Amino acid sequence: MEISNKNDIKAFLEKAGFVFKKSLGQNFLIDGTVAPKMAEFAGGKDTGVIEIGPGAGVLTRELSTRAKRVIAIEVDEKLKPVLNKTLEGLDNVKVIFSDVLKTDLHAIINENFSDCGSVTVCANLPYYITSPIIMNLLKSKLPIESITVMVQKEAADRICAEVGSRNAGAVTAAINYYALAKPLFFVPKSSFLPEPKVNSEVINLKIRSAPPINVSDEEFFFKTVNACFLLRRKTAINSISSAMKIDKEKIKQIFLKLGINETARGETFTMELLAELSEELKKYLQ
Ligand code: SAM
Repeated sequence: MEISNKNDIKAFLEKAGFVFKKSLGQNFLIDGTVAPKMAEFAGGKDTGVIEIGPGAGVLTRELSTRAKRVIAIEVDEKLKPVLNKTLEGLDNVKVIFSDVLKTDLHAIINENFSDCGSVTVCANLPYYITSPIIMNLLKSKLPIESITVMVQKEAADRICAEVGSRNAGAVTAAINYYALAKPLFFVPKSSFLPEPKVNSEVINLKIRSAPPINVSDEEFFFKTVNACFLLRRKTAINSISSAMKIDKEKIKQIFLKLGINETARGETFTMELLAELSEELKKYLQ
């Protein structure tokens, strides 16, 4: 069933009795040009694609025509009759109704993509859990090549910023540890039903074969990163002291040892510096 324009989708969802749930971040694509463009970045005929939140299946259909197989994970069972109709006849698509944050994605990949040359993730993410979903995908160390996702424009700017630059945040460094992030294209809020308050952007995360820095304890490294950015308007010393409950004088000594200015802010720290800082803080806390 063709569902690539606003009126078709609106009429179809109304007829199916579907009611949008704001709490699940349900803003469906109604601009027929966006999903095909996104799907192009998800791989080709040898690729197994995991889609998160298929909604009414607009992106799923595009992925299905390009990829070898698509496994779509949707939390809202009310979309079952909708997806049964929109994905009818597409025999390389399977929808699993579950919360992606509680789903064993390793098992899904093993069970469905063993004959695929590569595996990718492609999704128009529910905005209320963008970061948890991305970090969960990365931290689970799935055998995936890339993640192509639509996120709020502001989140895209943060994620794709250079670590050590003004726009960087904890999420920039955390994602950079696992992947190379780049913006792909802008999507205006008018491309969705219902229309959200903010614009979006599609970004691509290319998974690194190895992290760009060496850390002895990944979890502690992420704790350090979060601590550096906890109080964005304050110096990193204040921010770390507040987050990790460490005396400011001790942090000053560590900064002196690493050649970091006392008044520096977390956003100026490179990945290498964050790694060194993490090792020193860990040594102190042991
Ligand atoms: N892919 C569709 C599109 O582009 O039109 C829908 C995108 S909509 C922004 C986000 C989708 O994610 C919704 O279908 C929503 O029900 C689903 N969703 C929300 N939370 C989820 C979760 N925890 N696990 C899986 N799907 C979820």
